[in-house]
Amino acid sequence: MDYISTRGSAPALDFAGATLAGLASDGGLYVPREWPRFSEAEIAAMAGLPYAELARRIMQPFVGDSLTPDRLLALTRAAYGRFAHAAVTPLVQFDEQHWLLELFHGPTLAFKDVALQLLGLLFEEFLSRGDENLTIVGATSGDTGSAAIDAVAGRAKVDIFMLHPRGRVSDVQRRQMTTVLAPNVHNIAIDGTFDDAQAMVKRMFNDPAMTGRFSIGAVNSINWARLMAQVVYYFAAALQLGAPHREVAFAVPTGNFGDVFAGYVAAKMGLPVARLIVATNVNDILHRALTSGDYSAGTVTPTAAPSMDIQVSSNFERLLFDLNGRDGAALAAQMAAFEASKTMRLTNAQREGAAVLFASARADADDMRQAIRWAWEHCGALIDPHTAIGLHAARAAALPKNVPVVTLATAHPAKFPDAVERATGQRPHLPARVGDLFDREERCAHLPGDYAAVADHVARHAVPRG
Ligand SMILES: *Cc1c(COP(=O)(O)O)cnc(C)c1O
Repeated sequence: MDYISTRGSAPALDFAGATLAGLASDGGLYVPREWPRFSEAEIAAMAGLPYAELARRIMQPFVGDSLTPDRLLALTRAAYGRFAHAAVTPLVQFDEQHWLLELFHGPTLAFKDVALQLLGLLFEEFLSRGDENLTIVGATSGDTGSAAIDAVAGRAKVDIFMLHPRGRVSDVQRRQMTTVLAPNVHNIAIDGTFDDAQAMVKRMFNDPAMTGRFSIGAVNSINWARLMAQVVYYFAAALQLGAPHREVAFAVPTGNFGDVFAGYVAAKMGLPVARLIVATNVNDILHRALTSGDYSAGTVTPTAAPSMDIQVSSNFERLLFDLNGRDGAALAAQMAAFEASKTMRLTNAQREGAAVLFASARADADDMRQAIRWAWEHCGALIDPHTAIGLHAARAAALPKNVPVVTLATAHPAKFPDAVERATGQRPHLPARVGDLFDREERCAHLPGDYAAVADHVARHAVPRG
């Protein structure tokens, strides 16, 4: 399988190349040249497979010659062996129609572990074949940083530099990053906001003084391998509920459109998906785009579900590309206009194409609180604010009663204990395996909100390209 850019002019790469590249050189995102498709019989034969083997079946067509089937299985077993639940992503029943897919049993208690645990192993595998060292630089408002750090800690030929805004991430989130003491992990608390940190990272990607000496890589969800890994749990859940002989709907708490795009890929591969319900908080650019065709960025409103507080959803570009008949030149023009004006109208083809599979709903703070309370009072389950937004959308969608609706639970409730306690009076506890988080030693550099200081710090600690 080779990978092409959504903007049509970057060179095609194989799976290994697309994994290490992150963003394409024309500013686009890599997508597989075509969607592999399973027959109904092939999907039926996947029922009951252990998660790591299911992952191998789903991923093999995307990986192509970059990994042998045996090697891919060894990597999926290693990645998912670190999860605290034998089912990796267990499915829990709420009522006759609603189900919860728990994606938070990984090391850092958020769904990002499902993809990043594998991505860390893929980096190490592909880097071991050449003499390149990779310097990952990222900015985080919480969840991505801890999941990425856990995934690459101690891995050969990779260093990670993770910037977070000092004093603006939760204690749990900070400690999940700063208590990882592996020598290749470099936490940096900067004075400033998340946007300041993000702006410094973007500047570093475009600073010849840095890119000339170091191979700078990315771990955010523009990386195709992350989305590929997320396709697996859509299959795992639907198979348990009767696929391929029965359609299943999914409600997905959405920020950067990565997770729900993986559901679209599952449908393209032949999984019978009745609906993909895009759930947003009041930062609702995607809800507006899907209901009225208006994709225009405003300013971010901070909410109790911070991982969904976004202005622009990078992975939406991958959907627009498909809905545009995969015309890279046309999409490049559409995206250039959006980057200049921050507004975009979806074409009719894009709107009608999206409406075939996608629905959407927006939850405000009150909707979110009520969903947390409903889960607790009716099902005895504590759910986190992100998951609650998904559950609100699932229940608002009013699908026919014979269609099971699976809400993706993207974070463990103990990551956001205050919001859960406010809604239910119950304070969720950290699972025992991370229970000593508050006793562990922390290591973190504190730097001023100044690009030169950060670039100097990275240059002094990173390993030049090879
Ligand atoms: C990252 C994240 C999301 C949003 O996922 P996208 O792939 O960006 O749409 C939702 N919930 C939680 C808890 C997250 O960490």
